[in-house]
Amino acid sequence: MNKKTVKDFDFQGKTVLLRAGLDIPLQNGEVTDDTRIRASLQTIEYLKQQGAKIVIIAHLGRPKGEFNLKYSLEPVANYFNENTDIRVTFAHDVIGEDAQNKVNALQPGEVVLLENLRFHKEEEKNDAEFAKALAGFADVFVNDAFSAAHRSHASTEGVTHFLPSYAGLLMEKELSNLGDALSEPARPFVAILGGAKVSDKIGVIKNLMSKADSIIIGGGMAYTFIKAMGGSIGKSLCEDDKLDLAREIITDSMERGVKLVLPIDTVAAKEFSNESPSTVFPTNNIPEEYEGLDIGKQSLEYFKKELENAKTVFWNGPMGVFEFSNFAHGTNAIAECLADSDAYTIIGGGDSAAAVAQLGHADKMDFISTGGGASLEFIEGKPLPGVEALQD
Ligand code: AMP
Repeated sequence: MNKKTVKDFDFQGKTVLLRAGLDIPLQNGEVTDDTRIRASLQTIEYLKQQGAKIVIIAHLGRPKGEFNLKYSLEPVANYFNENTDIRVTFAHDVIGEDAQNKVNALQPGEVVLLENLRFHKEEEKNDAEFAKALAGFADVFVNDAFSAAHRSHASTEGVTHFLPSYAGLLMEKELSNLGDALSEPARPFVAILGGAKVSDKIGVIKNLMSKADSIIIGGGMAYTFIKAMGGSIGKSLCEDDKLDLAREIITDSMERGVKLVLPIDTVAAKEFSNESPSTVFPTNNIPEEYEGLDIGKQSLEYFKKELENAKTVFWNGPMGVFEFSNFAHGTNAIAECLADSDAYTIIGGGDSAAAVAQLGHADKMDFISTGGGASLEFIEGKPLPGVEALQD
């Protein structure tokens, strides 16, 4: 990585504006998945040890530029205080009096978390005045929010015009795992892609085509490929306007000698519901009234065989509608297979990360990205504005 990190700055007695990725799911004000909070701890602890006064800025959900208690970061502050070793003071506004008073009162090693940045529409507009007001709290900026780095917002890009700007430790880890590790992987390198749409992952498939030895495609996006090869897929998910593209990808993979691994069989149902009775069909011969909701056992064996000798595995996207317990088997089995694998396993965030966490396998993976959209854009090879803006 060619960006400066927190290791390149002396924070003693300095006030640091720390952009963290704390966009976590809440239910009735309770944190239901603390992965991103846990992932933020290392940088906060490092800055504390360095004697910095720490002002954390973050967003939660999509409050659309207005104050909305439902999206308050206060439950996150409470979570830090009740479940981690970090004591956090919460400021009930972002650039208002409460924030100013609490920042002014900070002592070295203390932490204040400001209210949700997105309560101000200026955040997503990357408004220069708003960025300047945020920057005014501190002597130095640290961006650790990889999950927001694909956005050019006041707190990711704007503030870098006003403060010396460094990458946090999580940011550094994300960039080295999704960047360096996938660019120069131990081989064979097998990528597993799933999820709903081919269109969301075209860039990712194209980029991985020049890096991976095999690409396994499962989930809803597989059916567009199967149809492109002349298969009957019933009423399974399909993007008809992407059939030519799927054919191009298939041809490209053959020319490059990259093995494209598609599901052989499919668990299908007549209705898109967990209770709908299921039947297994060959993926290229699904009756008209059925839709594929998960990969079948033969596909799983085929995928596992491909993963057997892998030295690097990257996984993004579920193998089926894993939100329905009756159609989660394929996704869970892949998570288990990777947990047992000796390969260097990188999970590309989002649903696959959730599946791994739900099964209690998070510790068995080598790296789980905290980015959803950011991971995909980075793997597509797009520059991330929040990273580009940091000091070289
Ligand atoms: P993505 O955000 O593109 O990774 O897609 C994740 C979504 O894809 C999840 O909500 C899954 O339920 C959905 N999905 C996976 N497989 C299928 C399928 N066979 N049919 C419909 N939706 C699917």
